[in-house]
Amino acid sequence: MSDCLFCKIIAGEIPSNKAYEDGQCLAFYDIDPQAPTHLLVIPKEHIPSCGVVTPENSAVVAHIFEVISRLTAQLGISQFRVVSNCGEAAGQSVPHLHFHVLAGRDMTWPPG
Ligand code: 5GP
Ligand code: ZN
Repeated sequence: MSDCLFCKIIAGEIPSNKAYEDGQCLAFYDIDPQAPTHLLVIPKEHIPSCGVVTPENSAVVAHIFEVISRLTAQLGISQFRVVSNCGEAAGQSVPHLHFHVLAGRDMTWPPG
């Protein structure tokens, strides 16, 4: 999508600090980290949120979780939180599906 921030990051129109990339997804460091390690993992296909995952587009979600497992292991991270905010009231500010990977500090529950 031409006016989507994360599609622009995928296209290289906006720079990012990349941690991993393949044909299906991109992992990069959040510009405003909420933990010592804060990655975002996004599909290259524009999917607006985890509220619109369907049988047609869900394979990339499984792939992203494989990437999260591999990447965290490579980074030496064994304890982490994966978050996907869906909708403004849930805290979503960028309408392109993304998974936050947060690590390096103790987490509280429930989230705010
Ligand atoms: P959301 O609020 O939608 O769950 O998460 C969006 C995330 O994108 C936020 O954590 C925010 O800091 C991050 N973000 C917004 N703009 C940029 C950017 O230009 N570059 C990077 N690396 N992260 C961004
Ligand atoms: Zn997009």
